[in-house]
Amino acid sequence: ARAAIDFVASDFAGQPLPAADDPVSPAFTDLARYRASGGYALAAAVAHGTRDAESVLQAMEDAGLRGLGGAGFPAGRKWRIVRDHAARAAAAGRGGALMAVNIDEGEPGTFKDRTYLERDPHRFLEGLLIAAQVVGVDAVYIYLRDEYHGARALLARELERLQAEPPYPLPHIELRRGAGAYICGEESAMLESIEGRRGEPRLRPPYIAEAGLFGRPTLAHNFETLYWVRDILERGPQWFAGFGRHGRRGLRSFSVSGRVRSPGVKLAPAGITLRELVDEYCGGMLPGHTLYAYLPGGASGGILPAALADVPLDFDTLQPHGCFIGSAAVIVLSQHDRARDAALNVMRFFAHESCGQCTPCRVGTDKAARLMEAPQWDADLLDDLAQVMADASICGLGQAAPNPIRCVHKYFAHEVGEGHWPGDLPPPRGAPLAER
Ligand code: SF4
Repeated sequence: ARAAIDFVASDFAGQPLPAADDPVSPAFTDLARYRASGGYALAAAVAHGTRDAESVLQAMEDAGLRGLGGAGFPAGRKWRIVRDHAARAAAAGRGGALMAVNIDEGEPGTFKDRTYLERDPHRFLEGLLIAAQVVGVDAVYIYLRDEYHGARALLARELERLQAEPPYPLPHIELRRGAGAYICGEESAMLESIEGRRGEPRLRPPYIAEAGLFGRPTLAHNFETLYWVRDILERGPQWFAGFGRHGRRGLRSFSVSGRVRSPGVKLAPAGITLRELVDEYCGGMLPGHTLYAYLPGGASGGILPAALADVPLDFDTLQPHGCFIGSAAVIVLSQHDRARDAALNVMRFFAHESCGQCTPCRVGTDKAARLMEAPQWDADLLDDLAQVMADASICGLGQAAPNPIRCVHKYFAHEVGEGHWPGDLPPPRGAPLAER
């Protein structure tokens, strides 16, 4: 998908969100430019104690910033939990905490982290340093998607520049290359990979906040979560929390692709609906295309019909409909697409990316993909399989893999031989002749 950022935080200080047809394309912000805008003053203030850690934690909690890699765990609360475990570990002589930053960005349809990283890497690095100070982190491991060659070269260069002119003595920071495995986006699989083993999710407990990387308390964050820390602390938590629609709070970076006029990263209020997102931020649907369905959260977030285009898009709002927002990768389908094709595509993806550690996922995804190829689905068999995968898989990949099956059953039964095409939409190209 074409990735085009519309604006970044520094371009709309406290102002209403700019219109989507008024894009700002800031030049790349290197270390000198970032410093000239006051960059790293905040991290230095936290390091020198002129900005106390408690006020930072409070601001993070008041802003309501949640983990933007997909899980949505409140960032401030996570900092407190890891800080407490780190203090206990240090008192017991087991060293302080470690930090692992996930820039693996493997969710299909997601490209927001790369987009921000390629434009303003120091905003992310300053957030990382502030988190490390507040939590008491000894060393940081940045786990970067191997396919992001340009981003890696850029981040390595800027990191080197920062380490050559540090604002204060920095913690040890290592840049690690992923190896193209989707499952390493799962935090414990990422830690296994950093430790040099196969990327397989760990059983919990213990949770990684207590015993994570190399057995030490570990703060794991997605790139974008850290990217917002400086803005929240400088502008105040109410600035971030003040955005939002339909009762939700904050900002979300939607990676929009599919049948819209203007795909790309869209920074929009949390809780915006799909219809609003497409109309206000994406220039509407492509000519000749009518909204038919959408994937609100990449491969794992399920598929919703156009009839549910007015549901607020945020953490917690999509669960009643059997979906979730994850990392906010929105893929828009039109009457020329079929939900069953999208569902089959993601199931094949899961079968390919399953780490193979547990049977319900390893065998279930492969079997489901083969069953989903049939023109008419065996609903009972697929339902059974979906239940076993959801109940008995170790990690989120296997647990979420049945989502596309369930969504097709619930909303697109007419596509798999269980009903009739809605009267207001023609069957797409490729549909069996009898349906046209
Ligand atoms: Fe691996 Fe799938 Fe089991 Fe997760 S659910 S541990 S990806 S086999």
